[in-house]
Amino acid sequence: MNYQVKFTVVGQGLVGSLVALQLLDSGADVQVIDRAPRRCASWVSSGMIDPISGQRFATTWNYHTHAPLAVATYKRLEDRFGIKILRESPIWRLFRDNQDRQTYQKKREKGALDGFIDSEFHDTHHRHIRSPFGGIQVRGGYIVDVEQLTRRLAIYFDTLGILQFGEVANLTNSEQIIIHCTGAYAASTPLFSWLPFRNSRGECIRFTSNELSLPGIINNGFWICPLGNGEFKAGATYSWEDLFSMPKAIEYHQVLDKLRTIIPSVPIHELRVESGTRSIMEDTLPVVGCHPNYPNELIVSGVGSKGTLSAPFLARQVQQFLLNNAEIHPEISIQRFIKKYYFHGHY
Ligand SMILES: Cc1cc2nc3c(=O)[nH]c(=O)nc-3n(C[C@H](O)[C@H](O)[C@H](O)COP(=O)(O)OP(=O)(O)OC[C@H]3O[C@@H](n4cnc5c(N)ncnc54)[C@H](O)[C@@H]3O)c2cc1C
Repeated sequence: MNYQVKFTVVGQGLVGSLVALQLLDSGADVQVIDRAPRRCASWVSSGMIDPISGQRFATTWNYHTHAPLAVATYKRLEDRFGIKILRESPIWRLFRDNQDRQTYQKKREKGALDGFIDSEFHDTHHRHIRSPFGGIQVRGGYIVDVEQLTRRLAIYFDTLGILQFGEVANLTNSEQIIIHCTGAYAASTPLFSWLPFRNSRGECIRFTSNELSLPGIINNGFWICPLGNGEFKAGATYSWEDLFSMPKAIEYHQVLDKLRTIIPSVPIHELRVESGTRSIMEDTLPVVGCHPNYPNELIVSGVGSKGTLSAPFLARQVQQFLLNNAEIHPEISIQRFIKKYYFHGHY
């Protein structure tokens, strides 16, 4: 690999931060660019890592390989930057109704959830949580303070003099490799708008409560995440319209209503409503790789609601690809969508 090449990482969310750091630590010449003002989904993220998700109790893609790497990465960053960002947390997956319980039981009988379930319960017996259909306690969950991490890394990049604020449009320069880590915004970049994005906007409420104590992350499709020091986040909505709009009253009320079905009577003090946009591919896996016609333009996006788990893996993939000529994992490679590029009339 030619270490004289300059790498420009566009976007300093979780993905861009870890990609930039991985390249820097390998001795590469890196600059990082973001916008001002920023709209960064990583600042809204609760940073949860959940081995099982969705209505079908699907196990998270490559959880068993990604989780140890993610945990090791975040622990290393804690030591290096003197921050506390990683917590292990049980997940209480509450059943929504009897059908939800049956879906779980079928999945469990097939052995698909082996190793992930600590216990099953018919009622939580927890003084604050309402769970009439019972649930399961899932192991392998973590909470990462992604906002603190990205803000700390911004300071680090700034100290090195490599963080700038600007627009990607000014960058076209064939002597650089430009790595687009712009999250959901990649869908509006002409270079990558042909990719099958299914982005969604999500809102959540951040609140404090002196009374509420949770045994871990509470999740039934709607989640409540304990952030520590009496702070919590609850969410989130999924909206496919007005992708980059500010928080909306209707969605705020949706979140509040759902929150109150799980913790009906505990007093809370709302701090703010937060809104961010998730970058999601049609097959729900991330996308990594070079533009078909502009090999110096590379994208890393599509992490969906799993970026906390996958970002360390993606950063390593990018580093291995750019510095060691390694192949990108075929399941996340941009190559899987290449027909769409030509279908859209590009030659
Ligand atoms: C409500 C909500 C809750 C979530 N909770 C979780 C969770 O618990 N766990 C989890 O794993 N994930 C969660 N997510 C998903 C989370 O957003 C991703 O996991 C991940 O943090 C996204 O990181 P990213 O770096 O790809 O994108 P972002 O964090 O959005 O970063 C993209 C950056 O690119 C910059 N940018 C964009 N365009 C340009 C441009 N043209 N020029 C310069 N800069 C540009 C933006 O300003 C931004 O800083 C949640 C998302 C939402 C909306």
